[in-house]
Amino acid sequence: MSEFQVYYLGCGSATPTVRHLPSCQVLNFRGSLHMIDCGEGAQLQFRRNKLKFSRLNHIYVSHIHGDHFLGLPGLLSTMALHNIGGKVVVHVFDEGAEILDHLMRVFCRETSFEIEYDVIKPEDTLILDAKALTVETFPLDHRVPAVGFLFKEKQGPRHLNGEMARFLQIPPSLIPGIINDGNDFVRPDGSVVPNERITTDPTPARSYAYCSDTLYMPSLGERLRGVNTIYHEATYMSDNTHKAEARGHSTAAQAAAVAQAAGAQRLVLGHYSQAYDADEPFAQEAATIFSGEVIAAHEGLKIDI
Ligand SMILES: [Zn+2]
Repeated sequence: MSEFQVYYLGCGSATPTVRHLPSCQVLNFRGSLHMIDCGEGAQLQFRRNKLKFSRLNHIYVSHIHGDHFLGLPGLLSTMALHNIGGKVVVHVFDEGAEILDHLMRVFCRETSFEIEYDVIKPEDTLILDAKALTVETFPLDHRVPAVGFLFKEKQGPRHLNGEMARFLQIPPSLIPGIINDGNDFVRPDGSVVPNERITTDPTPARSYAYCSDTLYMPSLGERLRGVNTIYHEATYMSDNTHKAEARGHSTAAQAAAVAQAAGAQRLVLGHYSQAYDADEPFAQEAATIFSGEVIAAHEGLKIDI
């Protein structure tokens, strides 16, 4: 299976603790790196995980709060020291683009790579349509405009049944049309062998949703229907539901309700408040509601989607 992995570089909330750093994840899709949020310390974690700056092509910032943004000036300054070439696209709200543009003009007059700002809006938008991957935003409900990101692998072609192809003596020149376009095979005598007898279903496409800081949004379940793995912030547990509501955050139980409604296979939790000194109870609370696999993320965790 081709690479589709997520590295967890920072799993804490606004106040860093000795156990957790602010938000940052890196998604590796077939060797191309996509950073999701960039809290302080992200560049150190990036190196600790032996990730390569030259492979970092996209950075997505869910909202302009320090614990999701303040690692960026340092990261981009460091990248400017390296002769990496190419282009980095920063997907960010407009005020974030303005701040970064100013900082880069002050600190990094010359960079060996191009920085492109893709200004995002708090709505459903397709922001990347690459060869085998799409990235969409979806609105969240936080104290400032905020979005989540949905990474979807494009559906691959159907698989050829090699034994059948040999038996039918299908000319190699017809194979691309059969697997990519769904063509049937017409024998020399004019009889037709339907496509489904020569091919099997494609490998199911994989997907990853990143639900950044947000109040509990029951509608997210429908929006993320069919997503394999959902990351959802769980700043608090149910003992602090009122605090979560007051501060624009969710509890582990609410994250689980979203994943359950979406029919996901796996839920990853993070963005833990400093008020807690262990992560496993978050997973235990979520597991009382969500029937799939629950993982309480920690720095250094890497999962295959
Ligand atoms: Zn926030």
